[in-house]
Amino acid sequence: MLFIYRNSLLNRRLLVKLAYKCKLNKVTPFVMKKPRLIITNVLVFVITGLVALFLVPYVAITQGFDSAEIIACIVLVYFSGMSITAGYHRLWAHKAYEANTFVRVVLAIGGAMTLQNSILHWVSDHRIHHRHVDDNERDPYSAKRGFWYSHMGWMLREYQIHRYSDYSNCRDLQKDKVVVWQHKYYLPIMLISNFGIPTLLGWLNGDVLGMLLLAGFFRLVVVHHVTFFINSLAHIWGRQPYTDNNTARDNDILAFFTFGEGYHNYHHIFEYDYRNGIKWWQFDPTKWLIRGLSFIGWTKNLRRCPEERIEKAKMAMQLQRAQQHLSVLPNADEILPRLQQEYDQILHKMAEMYATKKRLMEIRKHKIKRNYEKLELDFKYRELKYNLELHKQKWLQLYQVKYQLA
Ligand SMILES: [Zn+2]
Ligand SMILES: [Zn+2]
Repeated sequence: MLFIYRNSLLNRRLLVKLAYKCKLNKVTPFVMKKPRLIITNVLVFVITGLVALFLVPYVAITQGFDSAEIIACIVLVYFSGMSITAGYHRLWAHKAYEANTFVRVVLAIGGAMTLQNSILHWVSDHRIHHRHVDDNERDPYSAKRGFWYSHMGWMLREYQIHRYSDYSNCRDLQKDKVVVWQHKYYLPIMLISNFGIPTLLGWLNGDVLGMLLLAGFFRLVVVHHVTFFINSLAHIWGRQPYTDNNTARDNDILAFFTFGEGYHNYHHIFEYDYRNGIKWWQFDPTKWLIRGLSFIGWTKNLRRCPEERIEKAKMAMQLQRAQQHLSVLPNADEILPRLQQEYDQILHKMAEMYATKKRLMEIRKHKIKRNYEKLELDFKYRELKYNLELHKQKWLQLYQVKYQLA
């Protein structure tokens, strides 16, 4: 068996598949212990990494890059990076909105430009990540296997070879002609976008090599790592305002470098929301792009999680933290029931406020000419909102809960 395992890739695949299907826990770790290196991936990361780390700085010092090359690099970082976040991720993996064919084609080309495999393959991995987050056996880039594994390590060996061509969790996408086209012609699209576009820009600018180095190699490595940070750092560094059922974190600094994907704690609990940073001031250019395109009708049906559910999740998390914090106090038996009581009251007030808000929105939406009711509801809503805020502050101050408010 070991002989077969060592000498035949086909048989090895069958063996791994069999072990996985039979859930042979004792066999699986043995078989999976040292999966084969994926030489192509290793070479791509090593070569592009070396060029970006050594050759690009060397050329920058000895010859310098002109402003056209720098601008092209920045534009292509955003174009290809946001093709992953707005396209691969929010459009195709989570179906958070719909986009017209032109937008889908552009995003499919931009996504191929990041060398992160086809939409179909990427989405399949990502849907498993959400479904089995932090499960070291199933999550393809489980953060519980450490920073290196979730950042890049998972792509260097055949860790989940048993399901590499299983796209059964993406049947919906197999009906999307753009997805099918991009999967079929991934290699030429990837090569043309990565080398063709910088070469063309370099030719127009009069220096093909300079453009290839900066807008080709350097740009690719930057986009690689900022998007890989979403799988690694966004599961390690930051706060957890909505849930601690998984390792995902919210992090403003990371959001700045990941086109808004740094609000990963929110994303893991409300994955179908087209936004990751839900406050207007949170840096989420992917959200702004999707929303901006909706104004000209190129994107539609943008999905948002109802505010009440978001607030409830946040409150539940605050209660849990307060309980943990207070349970160690000597008078915990006395304080904890009061805490729960206050929490229940807030939830009640919250439900009342959102019901009023909903009714008010309906009246506004349908332009119902019931001015008296509208005025009354408006006043009631403002009052409830104000009272709820006061109640929340009281709840926190009363017990001097020292944790970060999200
Ligand atoms: Zn994640
Ligand atoms: Zn996601």
